[in-house]
Amino acid sequence: MKLEEYGYVWLDGKIVEYENAKVPLMTHALHYGTSVIEGIRAYKAKDNLYIFRLEDHIKRLFRSASIHSIPLRHSVNDVIDGVVQMLRKNDVRDSCYIRPIAFVGLHGIDLYVREDSPSHIAIVAFKFDHYFNSNGIRACISSWRRINDLSLPPLAKAGANYLNSVLATQECRRRGYDEAILLDSNGMVSEAPGENVFLVRNGRIVTPPLASCVLEGITRDTAMRIARDMGYAVEERNIPRSELYVADEVFLTGTAAEITPVISIDDHIVGDGKEGKVTRSIREMYAKTVRAEVKAYMDWLTPVW
Ligand code: PMP
Repeated sequence: MKLEEYGYVWLDGKIVEYENAKVPLMTHALHYGTSVIEGIRAYKAKDNLYIFRLEDHIKRLFRSASIHSIPLRHSVNDVIDGVVQMLRKNDVRDSCYIRPIAFVGLHGIDLYVREDSPSHIAIVAFKFDHYFNSNGIRACISSWRRINDLSLPPLAKAGANYLNSVLATQECRRRGYDEAILLDSNGMVSEAPGENVFLVRNGRIVTPPLASCVLEGITRDTAMRIARDMGYAVEERNIPRSELYVADEVFLTGTAAEITPVISIDDHIVGDGKEGKVTRSIREMYAKTVRAEVKAYMDWLTPVW
């Protein structure tokens, strides 16, 4: 995937040229995965460019850093302002993806990351459109288990977690599927490499609880809120693998994936093999929400201009 990054980034409180924002080879995060990241989208609407749930994303970045005791040298508000400043400096008017990253810098080979360890925060943005085919994707259950809280907390959005996601993605693509779904250490449905999982059965919407080793997805939270407001019952509970095979509908949620229908799992056709009506109603409401077309959810949006 080739990215078209904008020319300016925010780095440790200053706007600098992307070309000049370089890190040394001995950066700790490059060797040991000591980084935490966010993935945020801004959507072009009729009258403005709106960042979706900016504050929630930046607060999660700080929670992720706190889990790993990675010290951050700026406040939540500094980083929120940094995102807006950076988009303005780049004169961004179109929908884009924003990637804040906080990481440990030059800390030698010392694994004791602590309050005085050098750390940095950068914010980069690039043009971005659809991640998956929104008509639906074919998924398989990965033979890899999702990382768990006994060894690497899935609740922190840490760079290192993505090695687990990379393994599952490699396996599923080599087998000819679009996306993987991982089980947790107890064999229950956990999440996809970069998305949360939902199923619909008998009109009820179900998603695994945080204890199933999932990231506390912001799109997951958005989908639950939208679904409840539309009158659906939404439950967080354990999901056994085979329940996915007999679900009426399955969909994934994520900032990049938005709301993506899953039309088969391990070659079991989900429902009638097309996007289901519950998924469609949530997907359409989500698409309107992020584009500032729903008054009730305007609090989730930060205008750039
Ligand atoms: N799980 C994982 C492992 C992810 O990487 C992501 C993407 N950030 C999600 C779930 C979905 O989270 P969100 O809706 O906040 O993008």
